[in-house]
Amino acid sequence: MTKHLRVAIIGAGPAGIYAGNILKNQHPDVAIDLFDSLPAPYGLIRYGVAPDHPRIKGIVNSLHEMLGEGSIRFFGNVTFGRDLTLDDIHEHYHAVIFATGAIKDAPLAIPGVDLDGSYGAADFVSWYDGHPDYPLTWPLEAAQVAVLGNGNVALDVARVLAKHAEDMLTTDIPANVYDGLKASPVTDVHVFGRRGPAQIKFTPIELRELGEIRDVDIVLYDEDFPEGWFNEDAEGVTNQHRVMARIIEGWRTEQAERREAGEPGASRRLHLHFFSSPVEVLGADGKVSGMRFERTALNDDGASVHGTGEFVEYPLQAVYRAIGYFGSELPDVPFDAMRGVVRNEGGRVVDESGAQQSGLYATGWIKRGPVGLIGHTKSDASETIENLLADADSLADPASGNTEALLLELAERGVEFTTWAGWLQLDAHERALGAAYDAGVARERVKVVSREEQVRISRA
Ligand code: NAP
Repeated sequence: MTKHLRVAIIGAGPAGIYAGNILKNQHPDVAIDLFDSLPAPYGLIRYGVAPDHPRIKGIVNSLHEMLGEGSIRFFGNVTFGRDLTLDDIHEHYHAVIFATGAIKDAPLAIPGVDLDGSYGAADFVSWYDGHPDYPLTWPLEAAQVAVLGNGNVALDVARVLAKHAEDMLTTDIPANVYDGLKASPVTDVHVFGRRGPAQIKFTPIELRELGEIRDVDIVLYDEDFPEGWFNEDAEGVTNQHRVMARIIEGWRTEQAERREAGEPGASRRLHLHFFSSPVEVLGADGKVSGMRFERTALNDDGASVHGTGEFVEYPLQAVYRAIGYFGSELPDVPFDAMRGVVRNEGGRVVDESGAQQSGLYATGWIKRGPVGLIGHTKSDASETIENLLADADSLADPASGNTEALLLELAERGVEFTTWAGWLQLDAHERALGAAYDAGVARERVKVVSREEQVRISRA
């Protein structure tokens, strides 16, 4: 297959960049334009990974190399469906790959979920990561907070809430986030899992990190640890589970020793509760005042749980729902509203009847749902690209012979798009802000939050 291809990718996060990189390596005769609704690239890495996770944020370096190499053009501040339509795509490209991720919170249908003080984790993550479309202030007024869910997002949210703001200063958090966290009166963060400590979806490095937060004690409850709570030999038990069981047992021992020694304890606590299924967010005067859970117990399969009919209430002033992300529908693109993904088979977009939509592909979380680590998007992208290239001969040639025409059209529509050169300017600006920061700590970067400012700096 030697046909020259023009391909648009929507979404400049890891999924989109990996897909572009694999495509150009496998089919060098390709022109790739990568669009994002945000002025800066890197999607989830810039706006989803917690600021105190520099190791994961470091993935940016390889993504930077892939884009900097020049064969993939980046255009930011361009929203698909508004600034750039599916008709534009058909006119200028042979194919489009949707890599828009999953950035909304999965719904939790329980009474009281809309009370003031009940928040989705995705929104909080966007705030602390300085997403331009979120308000600058976050109401951090609660002393006792619940985080629902036993996945890594719940850990991120709990950790950021529990940490002392000074310990976040070495990260790239914007000034408004530091000020908000510094004023937080939080003393107790309660993380609730609906299953047991042996069924957690955390990963070992992230779990261990909880125990290393300065001036924060981990608190565990004996009723969540029935005799033989961790069965090494149970089906599905992996090495990761074994490591995490050891970490948890270590914390239980430390907690017992602390109590025996009568140590005063830290000024903040991070409580891990298990077998607690959320039933209702309790309120007073329209605000969160607590949470009601039903205790659960494991079924014979050793993995699922049932309600026991026993209910427990906790006094709390805020609740963060970290029960999974959910994808957003894209205009004119078939969508599975139950799963929150673009309808697809192996990355080929299909309609409800299963008919393939010519030239439309998907990759990443919008293809398979919000599970898996960033590296998993590589294999996902490989499958999508393999299918795209298998279809290449049948892809209709676009009416317009050059994509420069599209850029002119965008400019005529008043779309202030940013480019790779613009990102390099914004990147340098943020690094300079970090270097100039005067609080006795080394800061690699301070993020610019406002969309207008990002666009202004990028297009200067
Ligand atoms: P996740 O790993 O799927 O965890 C979701 C959690 O929500 C599970 O514990 C689930 O319980 C619980 N849940 C779902 N519905 C619930 C309900 N109705 N009531 C109570 N609990 C409910 O999802 P995630 O935490 O959003 O993470 C998404 C992906 O990103 C994961 O692959 C994660 O590892 C990755 N990630 C990685 C990092 C990192 O630092 N490495 C950071 C963030 C995210 P059940 O298990 O019982 O279903």
